[in-house]
Amino acid sequence: MGLMDIRTRVEAAESAAGRPVGSTRLIAVSKVQPLERVESVLVEGHRVFGENKVQEAQGKWPAFRERFDDVELHLIGPLQTNKARAALDLFDVIHTLDRAKLATTLARLAQETGTCPPLFVQVNTGEEPQKAGVLPREADAFVQLVREMDLPVEGLMCIPPADEEPSLHFALLAKIAARNGLTGLSMGMSSDFEQAIALGATHVRVGSAIFGDRIYA
Ligand SMILES: *Cc1c(COP(=O)(O)O)cnc(C)c1O
Repeated sequence: MGLMDIRTRVEAAESAAGRPVGSTRLIAVSKVQPLERVESVLVEGHRVFGENKVQEAQGKWPAFRERFDDVELHLIGPLQTNKARAALDLFDVIHTLDRAKLATTLARLAQETGTCPPLFVQVNTGEEPQKAGVLPREADAFVQLVREMDLPVEGLMCIPPADEEPSLHFALLAKIAARNGLTGLSMGMSSDFEQAIALGATHVRVGSAIFGDRIYA
C-alpha cells in the first residue's frame, strides 16, 4: 500500500515481463480522495494523476498546479460533450473517447484551438450494457473514423467486468490495438495492474492501492 510500494511492484512487473523499467505510466487515481492524501503523494514527487469527473478535477487541480510544477492530468471517466471544452483546458490526456458525437465535438474544438491532447478510445471489452465504450467488433471502424477526423488517437482503454478474469480482457484490448497499429494500452487498476503490465499496459490507473480506500459521503 502506498506510492513507493506500488512503484516497486510496477517495476517488478515490468522486469518480469521483460519490459524496460519505466515503460509503464503510473496514473495515481485521486478521485474522491481527501486533499491531504493527494497532497502527500505530490510531496512524495509523483506528478501523474487521474480523475473521472471534470467538475471534481476543476475544483482541486488548478490550486495544486499553482504549487506543484509539471502535473500531468488524465481524464479516465465518461466525458459529456458539454464539458468537452473544460476537459481540454484541464486534462493532458483523455482516456474515454467512446462515441462519434464526442469525437466530432473534440475535432471541432481541436480545429478552433489548434491543439488536442492524446486520446484513448475506450472499448467495452465485456460488452456490458451499463458500461461506456465501443464494442470490440466496432472498434476498428471507430478508430478509423477518429483518425479521419485528424484526432490524435494514441491507444485503447478498458475496464474489465468486475467478476471476470481481467487478463482475458487485457489480451483482447492488446489484440485490437495491435491490429490497428496503436501502441498505447490504458488498462489495469489496483487489483490487477501487474497482470495488465504483463500483457503490455503502457498506462495503469491505480487509486485505492496508492491512496487507501475511497470514502464516499
Ligand atoms: C476509479 C478508477 C480507477 C482506480 O480504481 P482502483 O481500484 O481504486 O485502483 C481506475 N480506472 C477507472 C476508470 C476508475 O474510474
